[in-house]
Amino acid sequence: VATKRFFGFMKPQITKSKVSGDIQTCAPPDRVGLTLARTDQLPFEALVRVGDQVKSGQPLAATASKSVITSPVSGKVLALNPQFAPDGTELPGIQILCDVAEDVTSYDTIADLKQASADEIIEGLTKLGIPCPWKTEAAAATMGKAERTAVHTVLVMAIDREPGLSVQSQFLGTYRDCLADSLDALRRITGTASVQLAVPKAEMARAQSDFPGVTVVGVSDRYPENHWQLVLAKVAGVGNTSFSAAREAGYLVLTAEDVTGAGRSLTEGRARVTKLVTVTGKSKSPVTVEARMGSPISSILKELDIEVADGDRVMLGGAWSGFAQYDVDAPISHTSDGITVIAADQITHFNENTCINCGRCTQFCPVGIQVNLTARFAEFNLIEDAIQRGASACIECGVCAYVCPAHRPLVQYLRYAVKSHQESQAAELAAETAE
Ligand code: SF4
Ligand code: SF4
Repeated sequence: VATKRFFGFMKPQITKSKVSGDIQTCAPPDRVGLTLARTDQLPFEALVRVGDQVKSGQPLAATASKSVITSPVSGKVLALNPQFAPDGTELPGIQILCDVAEDVTSYDTIADLKQASADEIIEGLTKLGIPCPWKTEAAAATMGKAERTAVHTVLVMAIDREPGLSVQSQFLGTYRDCLADSLDALRRITGTASVQLAVPKAEMARAQSDFPGVTVVGVSDRYPENHWQLVLAKVAGVGNTSFSAAREAGYLVLTAEDVTGAGRSLTEGRARVTKLVTVTGKSKSPVTVEARMGSPISSILKELDIEVADGDRVMLGGAWSGFAQYDVDAPISHTSDGITVIAADQITHFNENTCINCGRCTQFCPVGIQVNLTARFAEFNLIEDAIQRGASACIECGVCAYVCPAHRPLVQYLRYAVKSHQESQAAELAAETAE
């Protein structure tokens, strides 16, 4: 997706390039970096020390409820040091130097997923350390708050996170059979919970016949109507929700990639070590690659002969809601569906221009925030006022910034308000606990 805008008036020009259905496999990089933390899960404790040799698929860290993060490569633990999540948050992390030939950790296999019982599937998943809300009673005692909530609805996303990315939709094509078997297994282990599959509207009829037993939800291919949070809110029958709030209310969101990856791990007896990423690089056609989890962005760009020049912008994610990276060696995460490289002369520079009160941002905001006013509160550090105006409801779709003729950094202002509010709440809680 390319956009061009001019100060004072707007000439939106959106061109959506088709992503090839072919998936290019990237070689293992020289090193990988992983964050040892996941939203809504208990803290991860490292199971390895600096200098240890590890095999591909070996558990590196685990929670008390036995959810694990596995090594995507074979090599040596280089450091147990903080790594940055795509949004710049510093989290506990690990770096592995890939200095040996690939050696793979084997797990039990389930020869025929279609014939496996729910207990066999749950046992296999637990051995693989795949977070599973249908764990045994023994594990339930050590689960985090969100993990303990009974799941009554599982929503599987087979739609892409935003225009220009082609990752989750690949599972309706290249990996369709594997997705069907995996969904069927998921349906069996969820018991009475409903399994819903979000697909583009045009795919509905085919999906209903190919994925029996799951409820197919047809989703518009207009952005931001197909933004995941809005799709989730629609399924939950509410106006707006976050993934965490929905999880605490019994809705679990999985990606088609996660579901298919789990099914493949069970049948192949190997932990999942790769991630699909759509790479859009300057003038090159977008391509989807399969790379090791934690690969540095630079290693993937090098494979695709994409050079990053001074002034170019590199983002993890797509052009609408991705996060700009200041270091091309930053690792891709398990949620990075895209890498977007924007050439220096194509970048729209945001700055703190004065709002001209045209109202476009508020007019187009899909969750009804009065964006101009809320962003102004955040700009002047009036965080509580911004929160009272609904900043926390922002789904970070990027539409307000796209339509703003003054090029104000509206999403950044709202992110700033929400993050500041969260930090002050955490500080208050810590102070109360200390008393
Ligand atoms: S405030 Fe902007 S980024 Fe947030 S939901 Fe509204 S339009 Fe999207
Ligand atoms: S912030 Fe909203 S109201 Fe202000 S100039 Fe931008 S689009 Fe118009």
